[in-house]
Amino acid sequence: MLRLTLDMDDVLANTHEKLVSIILSDFETTLNEKDLNSKSLRELLHPKQLTKLNKIIDSPGFFADINVMDGAQETVYKLSKYYELFVATACMEFPTSFKDKFDWLKKFFPFIPWTNIVFCGYKSIIQSDYLLDDHVRNLVAFKGQGILFSAPHNLKETAYKRVSNWNEVSELFLPIK
Ligand SMILES: [Mg+2]
Repeated sequence: MLRLTLDMDDVLANTHEKLVSIILSDFETTLNEKDLNSKSLRELLHPKQLTKLNKIIDSPGFFADINVMDGAQETVYKLSKYYELFVATACMEFPTSFKDKFDWLKKFFPFIPWTNIVFCGYKSIIQSDYLLDDHVRNLVAFKGQGILFSAPHNLKETAYKRVSNWNEVSELFLPIK
């Protein structure tokens, strides 16, 4: 079986959507939802706002109620029949997130065993045939085939095969019906 490793934030979990809703309700900003989905928040927000946002991300509970990306549950379940699936999330920067992230995976992806969940720093440590991730920095470090999952912060990247949603992941990795 080929090994397929899935990133968590902005691949399995719609983390960007939650950040946008926090910015729109709690931050002083002239940006609208469309602006916040057009490029990386790092480019759009003031450094002080980024610091405020990082504090929110590092608060207990932030990762507990993030929505699952549309179509991810069904497709990941089907993928689990054809691939050795792993989830790898580079979450060491936010240690407060560990329990919330682990519980979230157990809730929405109960068929992925704990043995196949990796909380890491650099994804260069991941040994896998494929890695599906929204950050080029993770794909650059990875030694197998990297697939880029579209997100506002990677829309201009051209160096990797790209999928825009879970339907496209399904088309790319699953056999035809
Ligand atoms: Mg991610």
